[in-house]
Amino acid sequence: FHAELEEYCKDGSTIWTDVKATCIDNKEGNFLEIVGITRDVTIQHQLREELRISEERYRLLAENARDVIWTMELDGNISYVSPSIQLLRGFTPEEAMQQTLQEILTPESQQLSQSYFLQLHADLQAGQVTQPFRGELEYYCRDGSTIWTEVLALPTFDRQGQFQKLLGVSRDISERKSYEQQLTAVNQQLQALATTDALTGIWNRRHLETIIQQAMGHSDRYGEALSLIIVDVDYFKHINDHFGHPVGDQVLIAFSQRIRKQLRSSDGFGRWGGEEFLILLDHTDAQKARALAGNLRQVIAGRPFSVAGTVTASFGVAQRREQESFVDWLQRVDNCLYAAKKAGRNCVVGD
Ligand code: GH3
Ligand code: MG
Ligand code: MG
Repeated sequence: FHAELEEYCKDGSTIWTDVKATCIDNKEGNFLEIVGITRDVTIQHQLREELRISEERYRLLAENARDVIWTMELDGNISYVSPSIQLLRGFTPEEAMQQTLQEILTPESQQLSQSYFLQLHADLQAGQVTQPFRGELEYYCRDGSTIWTEVLALPTFDRQGQFQKLLGVSRDISERKSYEQQLTAVNQQLQALATTDALTGIWNRRHLETIIQQAMGHSDRYGEALSLIIVDVDYFKHINDHFGHPVGDQVLIAFSQRIRKQLRSSDGFGRWGGEEFLILLDHTDAQKARALAGNLRQVIAGRPFSVAGTVTASFGVAQRREQESFVDWLQRVDNCLYAAKKAGRNCVVGD
């Protein structure tokens, strides 16, 4: 007979005992007596009970948490994953535990976790203090979509200091991620709004000023030629008066598109105001700039615009002088434009 029995004490309390008993026969083989040993195992019993309760408590925590709790062995195998994995990724814990890292994480997240694993292995080998993993990982879901999580994983050790496993918690942060992505998109839109002209989509006056200042700084340093063309639509007021403001708007859009097509991507092109445009040309001297302006004049005047018909524009051109301020330079370009208007419009005047 071998059992754990709970026995009464004199004071009314109980103790737990480990009882072993054996039948003893006499020489003739007949039953003689039972010899038993009773050992007090109250403390062991209590410890075991406490352990059971504590394990039960952790199990309840793990099984009912919204976060996914998991353990991973040193070879990368998942040895436990809580049921909430099904809410997160659509896989049952049993399915998830069979999966390889490639099936679990997107390539970028795989790299992140693999480099942590390498570091962990190296630290363990060198007997150094190991670090927990903290990071954002993107998991694959059953339906082929992905989900972003924030992951904390702690290396755990037994009493002898031997590494046991990684204990991890993965939390769904897809909502936060999507807000972040929306915020980035909105910021990009704001950035675009702040630098482009709403009607034509080309640079606005503010951004033109910025890039002109930058280009001036560059040309001061490297002594490269820099030229400016100012373009003003001729008799634009007539177009508005004849065809209405919306047609005027369409002319401005088509006008800016025709010019954009003739420019290099490195040329700065923007709306300076109303029906006035600026073109900034780096690595370009006055002669080349005048030639380009002549070409642009032809591109505008040579083919009628829809509804408004033939539209012409006047051009002022000036190369920047050494160390010249923007105000002085712009004044010279503007003077050229004024001269072009005076000379009968639809022409180019250079300084
Ligand atoms: P000039 O040949 O001397 O340049 O004559 P102009 O009529 O082109 O010049 P003016 O400065 O007298 O008129 C410019 C007109 O451009 C006046 C203004 O109402 C119009 N305008 C400015 N911005 C816009 C716009 O965004 N859309 C439209 N449709 N018209 C605009
Ligand atoms: Mg005009
Ligand atoms: Mg004008």
